[in-house]
This record gives sequence, structure tokens and C-alpha cells, in this order.
Amino acid sequence: MSSSKDAPSLEPDGPYVSFVRQRRSAILERLGDACARAGRDVASVTLAAVSKTVGPVEAVAAMRAGYEVFAENRPQELVRKLDALAAAGIEAPRFDMIGNLQKNKINQVLGRASLIQSISSATLAQAVSKRAEREGLRVPVLLECNVSGEQSKVGFSPDEVREAAEGLAALPGIRIEGVMSMAPAHDPAEARRTFSGARELAEELRDRTGLALPVLSCGMSDDFEIAVEEGSTLVRLGRIVFSADYDLS
Ligand SMILES: *Cc1c(COP(=O)(O)O)cnc(C)c1O
Repeated sequence: MSSSKDAPSLEPDGPYVSFVRQRRSAILERLGDACARAGRDVASVTLAAVSKTVGPVEAVAAMRAGYEVFAENRPQELVRKLDALAAAGIEAPRFDMIGNLQKNKINQVLGRASLIQSISSATLAQAVSKRAEREGLRVPVLLECNVSGEQSKVGFSPDEVREAAEGLAALPGIRIEGVMSMAPAHDPAEARRTFSGARELAEELRDRTGLALPVLSCGMSDDFEIAVEEGSTLVRLGRIVFSADYDLS
């Protein structure tokens, strides 16, 4: 790894890299078991390391441990990490945007976030498309859908997204790659219903738009195995990747 002269070192300490490696082995074992139960190929699931609670040094440790996809929920933090890696001469991995995106922050992440997973309304989709078009970009996105119907969750309701789908598919500045959804916490049965609902919704949107929509982003630390059993192709793992406080048992 090369480091430019004045940039702070992003060298992670050995014990932390070992910790993240061990965690990754445990995660891969669980992923393998979940895939076996579902009759799926492990290669059909991408692990995204959600680095929102850690700094660039920990993200580099996760890169060393084998993670190739990262995700952040705040635009400023996504940009800060990418800038820190660039300043240290480290080639940036893929960073996705997974959090609430205000319209005035769209320009920050355009061309920097590899995939914007959190397109939660038609107005946001239109705003992203317009700005992307201005930059000559077509930005890969997911439609964030509130399948569980929880009040606290953002995203399209299933009815909204069904109605909007064709119009969204026609927007020139975005390319819709699939659906993202979050399940209620601490309720495995409800999580399973949410993820299977998200999968069925994606199938419906496929029929309505003619798009391939290959990506189903479901599952976090507490529920990724259920999500994989229900067809998720992209799991977003934060605490289980980075935090020793997260109980694996
Ligand atoms: C924080 C976050 C995650 C990761 O959550 P963990 O429970 O720490 O794995 C996944 N998705 C989104 C949208 C998040 O904000």
C-alpha cells in the first residue's frame, strides 16, 4: 500500500484486522448454511460492510479481511471515507449509499456512490435523475420499499411503487437495479414476511417495467440469514462485521 506524504496513515492494527477476519469467517459460514437451506449458490449473495459507525482505518481493515463492497448511510461520511482513502493512496472499493438522501445532498454522492440503494420516493427519484442527467450520468439505484408498513420506516408503499414503476423506469438519469427493504427489528417471523414480500414486489415490478431488477437488498446483522433464505442478493452488515460488542452466539 502506498501512502502519500502528508496523508494520515490508515494502517489498521493487526489485532483488529484479525478480529474482522474471524468475524468474516463466521459470517461466511452462516451465509453458507443459509444458502444451503435455500438451495442457493453462495456467490449469488453480496456482502456489503456497513461502515457508518467506524472510521476509515476500520474500513481498511475490512478491505484487508476481504470485503469488497461498503455502504454508508450519510452522504458526508461516504465522501469523507472516499477522500481519506484517496489521500492515503488506497484504491477505493465500491461504496453504496443506504441512508436518507436529502435533495440538497444529491450532488455530493453523484458519481461517488456506486449504487444509491435508498431511493424512497418518486420526487427523490426525479431529483436524482435530473441532476445525474445534467452531469451526463445514469446512476444505478434501488427503490427502497416499506413492505412491513411500519410508520417509522421510509420508502415507497407497495401500492405507491406499483403505480410509479413505469414512470420511474423511464427516468433517463437513473437505472433501477432492484429493491431495498428493511424489516422490523427483533421479530424473525415478521422479518421473513417482509423479505418475501419484498421479493414478490420486485417480481411484480419486473413484470410491470420489463427491467431485469437483479438486486434484492435485504438483511442486516440480526436477520441476514432469513433474508438470504427469502432470496436476498445483497445483505447490509454493520455491527456483526465491525463490533466486538455484537454478540454472535
Ligand atoms: C445501519 C444499517 C445497516 C446495518 O445494520 P446492522 O444491524 O448494524 O447490521 C443496514 N442497512 C441500513 C439501511 C442501515 O442504516
